[in-house]
Formats: sequence, structure tokens, C-alpha cells
Amino acid sequence: MKTAIFPGSFDPFTLGHLDVLHSALQLFDKVIVAVGYNSSKSGFFPPKTRVEIIRQAVSGIPNVEVCSYTGLTVDLCKEKDVKFIVRGLRTTTDFELESVIAQANRKMEGDILSVFIPAGHEYSFISSTVVRDVIVNGGDASSFLPEGVDIEPFIKARK
Ligand code: ADP
Repeated sequence: MKTAIFPGSFDPFTLGHLDVLHSALQLFDKVIVAVGYNSSKSGFFPPKTRVEIIRQAVSGIPNVEVCSYTGLTVDLCKEKDVKFIVRGLRTTTDFELESVIAQANRKMEGDILSVFIPAGHEYSFISSTVVRDVIVNGGDASSFLPEGVDIEPFIKARK
């Protein structure tokens, strides 16, 4: 059974993330979507909410687990006995950042491999930052979010 971890802030999970997840499921038998959070930085949505949004987004998609973690992604990989990390690439800037992280992870854990998946062209402009900007300015972010995600209660809970 080949399993990968797809780590990220997912603040919140978008259609772009979902596209990467679908691609990853073509390569791996199981994908663990892992919300990474830093206990000293609060983020836009709390980690529990981010997990809940992902659960709504992936409901009905088999072979997906959702969890949250703090600390190093390679430590989560060891804990879950997973050898592959999936990340999405939108731009050359993403590539530059991601390759540095991948090299650092590989230096720490030589047998953990990062797999980069290019963004689908229709989703490449979507980011959690754009979604947050739309939300704070009172816009409708639903066209950036996976079907089945009901973001309104989570927005209200922030207020
Ligand atoms: P992080 O803060 O760890 O970069 P993000 O939630 O912003 O977390 O992104 C998680 C992963 O998803 C990253 O690899 C990022 O490059 C990728 N990603 C984000 N948006 C898209 C998108 N629209 N298409 C493809 N990959 C994306």
C-alpha cells in the first residue's frame, strides 16, 4: 500500500488543493491531508476548522485521511510510516521554495521523497490568500472552494 502525506496550511482548503489531491490519488493508494499549524501563530481559521472544511471537501472521496499536526513534516511521516510528501506547484516561485524544503527534508530523512504535482491550469491562480481576501472583504468565495464546503458557519464563528 503506497501512502503519501499532502501537508499544508490549508487556511482554507481550495479547489487548487483538491485538484492536487485528485492527482495524488492517481499515484498513491492513500493520501493523508495534513493540516500543519504553529501553536504560536493563530492563522485565519483555527486548525480544527481547517480539518472540518477538508472533511467536507473530501467526503465521498475514498482513501483520504485528514489530520492536523504541529512540528516537522518529516516527523509526521515517521509517525505515520509514510515515505512520500506531495506538494503542488503553481509558479516558478513555488518551485524554488518547494525544492529548498524538499532538500532540507531529504537531508533530515534520506528515504523520504517529495513529489511535486503541477497545478491544473484552471486552478493555478487560486490560493488560500485570495480566498481569505475575498472573505474579509465580504465577497463570495464559494467559486474557489470545493463543492460540499459550507464556509459561512465557519466565517460567522470567527466574528
Ligand atoms: P503552505 O503554507 O504549506 O504552502 P498551502 O495551504 O498554501 O500551505 O499549500 C499547500 C500546498 O498546496 C503547497 O504545496 C502549495 O504550493 C499547493 N497549492 C496551493 N494552491 C494550489 C493551487 N491552486 N494549485 C496547485 N497547488 C496549490
